[in-house]
Amino acid sequence: MNIDSIQNGIVIDHIKAGQAMQIYDFLELGLLDCPVAIIKNAASTKMGRKDIIKIDSELKIDLNALGYIDPEITINIIRDGVRVKKYHPELPELITNIIRCKNPRCITSIEQELPHVFKLIDRARDEYRCVYCESKAGI
Ligand SMILES: [Zn+2]
Repeated sequence: MNIDSIQNGIVIDHIKAGQAMQIYDFLELGLLDCPVAIIKNAASTKMGRKDIIKIDSELKIDLNALGYIDPEITINIIRDGVRVKKYHPELPELITNIIRCKNPRCITSIEQELPHVFKLIDRARDEYRCVYCESKAGI
């Protein structure tokens, strides 16, 4: 892959320097078989240093879930070598199977097949709680 020219894919830009691996793991990019480039400590006029992730594939996942990590991230959608969309991820109302409830008494610890669902309680404070036991989410 020429990392400067993705034909069809996603560029996740303005990631806080040092946070790219967390997002890589969060999106499970290690499971993809398409080219993925991580650029660390790129110069940024706005941020000083930033990380960038380039994915040479059209992911089927909801990238708004990234709003949970950092709503300042910029997501660029590339089609045929042209940026067709640029947006910041919104904090999703519900996040499903992205974080797991850590409460050992939660029903999701007992019923393994249940989805792990967290609901946004307080948008200003990025606060999510488990829909089953109301435990606070921690990444
Ligand atoms: Zn729970």
